[in-house]
Amino acid sequence: MKTTQRIQDLVIGAGAVGVACAEALALAGRDVLLVDRGAVCSGCSHGNAGWVTPCHSLPLPGSGLVKQTLKWMLRGDSPLYIKPTLRPSRLAWLWRFYRHCNEEAQLRGLQALAELNRQVVPLTRELVERYGLDCQYEQRGITYVFRTEAGFEKGIRECELLHEHGIPGEILQREAVHTREPVLSDDVCGGVFYPGEADCVPDQFVKQLAARLPQLGVRILTDTEVERFEVSGREITAVATSAGTIQPENVILAAGSWTLVQARKLGLQLPMEPGKGYSVTLRRQPGIPKQPLNLSEAKVGVTPWQDTIRFAGTMELAGLQLKINQRRVDAIIREAKRFLPQFQAEDVLETWTGMRPMCSDGLPIIGRTSKLKNLFLATGHGMLGLTQAVVTGRLVADLVTSQRPLVPVEPFSPDRC
Ligand SMILES: Cc1cc2nc3c(=O)[nH]c(=O)nc-3n(C[C@H](O)[C@H](O)[C@H](O)COP(=O)(O)OP(=O)(O)OC[C@H]3O[C@@H](n4cnc5c(N)ncnc54)[C@H](O)[C@@H]3O)c2cc1C
Repeated sequence: MKTTQRIQDLVIGAGAVGVACAEALALAGRDVLLVDRGAVCSGCSHGNAGWVTPCHSLPLPGSGLVKQTLKWMLRGDSPLYIKPTLRPSRLAWLWRFYRHCNEEAQLRGLQALAELNRQVVPLTRELVERYGLDCQYEQRGITYVFRTEAGFEKGIRECELLHEHGIPGEILQREAVHTREPVLSDDVCGGVFYPGEADCVPDQFVKQLAARLPQLGVRILTDTEVERFEVSGREITAVATSAGTIQPENVILAAGSWTLVQARKLGLQLPMEPGKGYSVTLRRQPGIPKQPLNLSEAKVGVTPWQDTIRFAGTMELAGLQLKINQRRVDAIIREAKRFLPQFQAEDVLETWTGMRPMCSDGLPIIGRTSKLKNLFLATGHGMLGLTQAVVTGRLVADLVTSQRPLVPVEPFSPDRC
């Protein structure tokens, strides 16, 4: 039987971001209901590379990317593929993205992202320790490795820029990078080690955190789809779900790439596109690195854990759909083997795809909208949803409870969109 429930805060979406928002709100003393149309962590948070990575603070749109993208667009197995379409929302997104592909916008974005990302490792560590989450969380750093001199030079420049923004990195010449990871191919000519980065098994992190929420008083409804909103004036008065109606004081929309669909129902056109990526998880085997690696020219992330190893990468703008394109999966493994020639890619445990919620300026969308006074958005994290989940939860809780936010939220305001 469908019922009506009253609640202070309704969080929509039980991915990394929604679960972290629910936790932070509950800690702030709020009465929270978390709903997901599927299981906890069934969206993009499930199969990602597991990196909590402040060194990823340069926004994706940047100078030089347009030329590179035009070349990549001609190849269906390239690191970035844009499926041709005349859909107006995609064209509008591409136009906004293009307008951010310049140094000035990228440096402005870097300033904002670095300030946010300097918080992510300490906050995530504190949370893992608070609940004793068993998700292989470790701050062991990430090494970017390069097979071309041009790539290495770009990597060095990026390292210096990040250093200026409080994110340290160590440049590794050829010998040093091979000493660190002897399985790398001979043509790897250098690397940059970022010691401040952490990683975990992402679905273990999210599911275990969600499992702690009932002790904090959070109610969780899975297999419950948000269908419609009732709005009166500038306020959401009710949310119709497949399990009944909810009357919340506040709605926190954290539905990843699907936030687009829900926001549209509320009259908001978010400049977001799903950026599909893939991962392949295998049993541990010979020829793999000891530590997480970014295979830079291939744009593939490699994360070795106790019993498994994951290769993750590629970006495909192809709409809101989760069809696996095997050609792109094969390209991840093929490119990985160029860096790791002894790796045979045996014992595949899972081939997965997920859609990153990509905002056209490369920054997340966190905060209250001016259009609806009880709607908060927590989305658009793109390649950094796991990284920024805990800090986003903290910011949302700060805003809901009218506390001074931990970091300035203006750059992430939904009203900039
Ligand atoms: C290949 C790949 C590698 C990546 N690697 C990293 C990494 O190493 N580090 C990092 O920080 N990020 C990484 N990312 C990005 C990261 O995975 C995402 O940014 C993050 O998972 C987004 O989390 P989310 O909670 O916003 O969305 P999701 O995890 O997608 O969760 C959204 C939830 O909303 C629910 N939902 C949708 N519609 C409704 C509805 N109508 N009613 C109820 N519920 C609904 C969905 O079921 C889903 O569970 C990677 C992504 C990919 C694809």
